[in-house]
Amino acid sequence: MITPASEKTHIQVWDNCLKVIKDNIPTQSFKTWFVPIQPVRLEKNVLTIQVPSPFFYEWLEEHYINLLKKTIKKELGSDGTLEYTIVVDSAYQNNSPYTVKMPASHRNAISNPPVSMPLNIHSEGNSKEIPNPFVIPGLKKIKVNSQLNDRLNFDNFIEGDCNRLARSAGYAIAEKPGLTAFNPFFLYSHVGLGKTHLSQAIGIHIKNNFPDKTVLYLSAEQFQLQFTDSIVNKNQNDFINFYQMMDVLIIDDIHNLAGKQKTQDVFFHIFNHLHQRSKQIIITSDKAPVELNGIEQRLLSRFKWGLAADLQLPDFETRVAILKKKTYNDGIEMPNDVIDYLAFSITSNIRELEGALNSLIAQSVLNKKSINLDLAKKMIDKIVISNTKEISIDYIQKVVCDYFAISVDDMNSKSRKRDIVQARQLAMYFSKEMTKASLTTIGLQCGNKDHATVLHACRTVTNLLETDRIFKTYHDELVRKIKL
Ligand code: ADP
Ligand code: MG
Repeated sequence: MITPASEKTHIQVWDNCLKVIKDNIPTQSFKTWFVPIQPVRLEKNVLTIQVPSPFFYEWLEEHYINLLKKTIKKELGSDGTLEYTIVVDSAYQNNSPYTVKMPASHRNAISNPPVSMPLNIHSEGNSKEIPNPFVIPGLKKIKVNSQLNDRLNFDNFIEGDCNRLARSAGYAIAEKPGLTAFNPFFLYSHVGLGKTHLSQAIGIHIKNNFPDKTVLYLSAEQFQLQFTDSIVNKNQNDFINFYQMMDVLIIDDIHNLAGKQKTQDVFFHIFNHLHQRSKQIIITSDKAPVELNGIEQRLLSRFKWGLAADLQLPDFETRVAILKKKTYNDGIEMPNDVIDYLAFSITSNIRELEGALNSLIAQSVLNKKSINLDLAKKMIDKIVISNTKEISIDYIQKVVCDYFAISVDDMNSKSRKRDIVQARQLAMYFSKEMTKASLTTIGLQCGNKDHATVLHACRTVTNLLETDRIFKTYHDELVRKIKL
């Protein structure tokens, strides 16, 4: 006679299920996949079991779902339901290990050399149990804390010549993750030009449009720390299994893995696993793949499989648009001449541009002064003084003019006199070579010329350096003086 479900404990119910399951699958599979499971509770005909890792869940889902369904129904009746929890570290803050280890047989099956997993699964409260409702017949996916910052979305990412290719490729990826030719998407630039923002924007767009996809953003540094932890805690397999479950994996600042051989090996395996399954991989770096030192060749060659796109310094108009968007979002009114002045003065990168804007706002609040051009100029003067070591366009112009004994005004005039044209072209060329300013900015500061004029000047100088020895001497002496 069947005992009513309400009178059985979760342990009895699960034991009975196990008996059936054991008879129906090979002994080794039973030991691997069912022995480590622990029954947790039985409430209202819902049996909750605890599994050691997210990968475990996926495996059960793929291979034993029908068997589980049948046994549960046999034990608990037609409305019997199975739920389970996954025991994970409650994020990597406390670095505590998984409570249940993966069985050895499984470890071998998954990867060789043995590698790794997780952490950052989820961070709701401090609970150590991650409820993963897996309700027969409908199954839900593992919940992962994607580490995405809502502000870093496409709406807030201003488009300009400096980022057009990267942005549109990023958008195409966000619309069809894993299905474009841009896999992996390798995004590179100097610091503060929008790598993190654009890569997060892709992640946010995917999460909004494909709620079922598991998206994870993390820095290469976090990845490396987690990997080291997994070695200490002997749960490398969990580590790798976790990453192999992602639909979209975004790794920021990959250059930080330089020289970290073991972490690179692990990443190599994860990369292959995901790529083979058309999962989207997004990588950012401070250098193009060809210039990345300390990263294994086999990884570098894979980075070139998809699309490598860079982010350039934004031109003046883009800087203005970025400042306007930011002040608008923050609900701050800022006179146009102040915005133009900030955009004109801060050319190094977007983070510094935003920094200048923030200090201006802070000063105005603290001193109870309204934001005007005067306040902006005073503040920028301070910033410029603290940056004197950097070679600026102004400085280059001064050295070049001194050398040729002409005035800066003459150089920036419309004069076509040969010596003035020559000095102007050299100043433009050095500005391009020695500062991070864009052609547009250089033109603007060299007598309001357009970027085509600057480009022409740079080409002329390059040609003359090859053909005119005296000109080459001027150039070499000037380089020494500027760098002095
Ligand atoms: P990186 O990762 O390349 O160092 P970030 O993505 O952190 O740069 O960008 C630095 C700052 O500039 C961030 O606050 C970011 O929101 C902002 N930013 C970068 N690019 C843009 C853009 N195209 N439009 C608006 N803001 C941007
Ligand atoms: Mg960044």
